[in-house]
Amino acid sequence: MNTDVGKRSFVLKGIGVSPGIVIGKAYLYDRFNTQVSFYRLRDKSLVSQEIKRFRAALKESEKQLLEVKNKLCELAGREPLYIIDVHIMILKDKMFINHTVQYIKEMCINAEWAIKMTIDRYREIFEKVEDEYLKGRVSDIRYVGQMILRNLVGEEKEGIPDVGRKGIIIAVDLSPADTAQMMINKVQGFATEMGGKTSHTAIVARAVEIPAVVGLKSITKMVQSNDDIIVDGSAGLVVVNPEPEMIKVYEDKQKHFEKAQEDFLKYARLPAVTKDNYKVEIGGNIEFIEEIPSVISHGADGIGLYRTEFIYINKEQLPTEEEHFSHYKSVVGVQDLKWATIRTFDLGGDKFFSDPKLAKEMNPQMGLRAIRFCLKEVDMFKVQLRAIARASVYGKTRIMFPMISGVEEIREAKKIFIEVMDNLISQGIPVGDDIEIGVMIEVPSAVIIANELAKEVDFFSIGTNDLIQYALAIDRINERVTYLYEPLHPAVLRLIKQVVDIGHSEGIRVAMCGEMAGEPAYIMILLGLEIDELSMNPLAIPRVKKIIRGCTLKESKALLEKVMTFSSATEIREFVYNCMRERFPAEFPLNGT
Ligand code: PEP
Ligand code: MG
Repeated sequence: MNTDVGKRSFVLKGIGVSPGIVIGKAYLYDRFNTQVSFYRLRDKSLVSQEIKRFRAALKESEKQLLEVKNKLCELAGREPLYIIDVHIMILKDKMFINHTVQYIKEMCINAEWAIKMTIDRYREIFEKVEDEYLKGRVSDIRYVGQMILRNLVGEEKEGIPDVGRKGIIIAVDLSPADTAQMMINKVQGFATEMGGKTSHTAIVARAVEIPAVVGLKSITKMVQSNDDIIVDGSAGLVVVNPEPEMIKVYEDKQKHFEKAQEDFLKYARLPAVTKDNYKVEIGGNIEFIEEIPSVISHGADGIGLYRTEFIYINKEQLPTEEEHFSHYKSVVGVQDLKWATIRTFDLGGDKFFSDPKLAKEMNPQMGLRAIRFCLKEVDMFKVQLRAIARASVYGKTRIMFPMISGVEEIREAKKIFIEVMDNLISQGIPVGDDIEIGVMIEVPSAVIIANELAKEVDFFSIGTNDLIQYALAIDRINERVTYLYEPLHPAVLRLIKQVVDIGHSEGIRVAMCGEMAGEPAYIMILLGLEIDELSMNPLAIPRVKKIIRGCTLKESKALLEKVMTFSSATEIREFVYNCMRERFPAEFPLNGT
């Protein structure tokens, strides 16, 4: 590619949400900057006609959204995306409609301008919200508003649907409907201003495996269509108008990345068995049902953690039993997966919510979170449990309760679950007959009483993200203390070992579903513990399998034994990385950590 001579080269740093490197031409998607016309109606008698025009545009928009929903189903061959329902709900929202109608009536203005005023009003309200996630949801309202505007002016389609040639989409934000309408096979990458790991762009990009960087402030103002651009989704970088030498560097990186991916994907299809025949079950962690195809293609045996609180994403109201059920059925009933572990709501803490019952807390990580909240809001909990029980007819189901800190909690949760099951059975509603019950071990007290907890359940799943946070007193989302967040801390390793040993001596399965389970450098330690299942972000699976298949249980046990003799994380880290470099030089190059 030739760079335009004279154009300034610069680099933008954002959040890499879908790995990989792409070099191409920018395609600026400027949905939010559509010009909105303003005029006053000639006289009051035209107001009702203008309101009719607005209502007709609402109807037309709903029709189009339903078409998009169908198209999404065909495109991806999976359940319709919930987000489209959210957009339809906004279209039907009484406040949204009433505000707009009121502006038309009171100010005697055209419908386009009235909508713009409603959107601005919502934006102001959302900007005041502290919760970053909720703040970002204004993009859904803007998206719907733009759709109505297009229908008002009689434009049938959006500007972008067919990029026409390969391109990297630069946008403020994208919705799944946007991405479905852009022929996915022509889009090479995404770089957006808004979003985080759970934003729509991130989810879609990961699902279709396109490099993406989000959180790039002002990129739409700094880049023009046809600019040369590099998106590095692994490092979270975007290079605009790169110099030829820079392009060369990235071409090499790209080749290296693609080669590594190809190599890793070979491992996806192979079982996770050590050279001396120790088999580990591999799970995929998901937040959305749209990630299931990626779980399958990356070689998981099942779903090891479904974070169901994400069903609540974008919602004002808690999901209904039917909404829950349709999600769980999609997760449990997947032909290519052997089992699914559904974790009950882990709301609170760093997990978003919009229910006022979940008041703002001084110390939310230690507040009314997860099982504590569910045991307080029993009706809500029962709705979820009923849906899981009903879905369990469609495949092997495991229910997992988060944040258990004492036996009372698991006993109470089980009691409610049994009540729910009895109730369903007495109503003649079919339920599965081999549902397993498990707890997440993520609070230090649960480790200490693991022998008591083991008597109550069929399995443990170690949640290292929280276990480390609570054991080391490090807020997992506070960037000022992340340097202390250390999975290799001897205290953490001793806690984990205790859980696995006790679980096994009590005869139950022990899994791990925290981030630690997908980190290649820790795999031999976890093998040495003889953990039964590792569940991780699907993209991490092939690399982890490669490590498992490249070593023996015997040497992993020897490594673990040595690791447990050290008194500090520094010594352990040095020892483990040296061993891994020696055993897997290609995976752990000297200049990497
Ligand atoms: C964990 O705590 O390790 C875990 C897997 O749960 P979450 O990250 O959802 O809190
Ligand atoms: Mg957790």
